[in-house]
Amino acid sequence: MSSRLSEKTGQLVVPGEQLGVIEEFVPDLGTYVKDGVIYSKVLGRALLDLSTRRVSVFPVSRGPKVPRVGSIVVGQVSSVQNENANVRIFRVGKENISGFFSGILHISDVSMRYVDSMFDVCKPSDIMRAKVISDKNRVFHLSTQDKDLGVLHAFCTNCGFLLESRRMSMHCPRCGRIEKRKTAFDYGKGEL
Ligand SMILES: [Zn+2]
Repeated sequence: MSSRLSEKTGQLVVPGEQLGVIEEFVPDLGTYVKDGVIYSKVLGRALLDLSTRRVSVFPVSRGPKVPRVGSIVVGQVSSVQNENANVRIFRVGKENISGFFSGILHISDVSMRYVDSMFDVCKPSDIMRAKVISDKNRVFHLSTQDKDLGVLHAFCTNCGFLLESRRMSMHCPRCGRIEKRKTAFDYGKGEL
């Protein structure tokens, strides 16, 4: 087993592939143990640390990242109607993607509370974090029902300046306009 693992270090391994036994090695990230045998949990590169005898597998991603049900995504609002907003998804998880996917946020998925109009939720060019709740027909349906979901950066519809979040409303420090948004709890904290 030990010689096999030494050969495998740096090599691509598949989920379920045997890496060694717990008498010889310490299972670490990306592995699991069954009946004393260490297996790879993911598709990735097996790494053996010779000094600590730790064996781990670092996942490799296959192809471009695509949003899935449950993915947290970030995108820019492209258009808003009374009951829907269209979002151009440009980040999936922590990865910025080349190009974008189209997402749609329906008013019933904005908040646990009743929302009167989508125009109180977001405006075109706002940056928003949302969760994918359905991907039927490659249309990504989004939800912002958690407190960590919602608008991250909002721009004044009068002058385009970045709005500040103040209690229940949004305030433009340049022209004084007051607007409404459904913000994430960390509104304005991340980089653009
Ligand atoms: Zn303004």
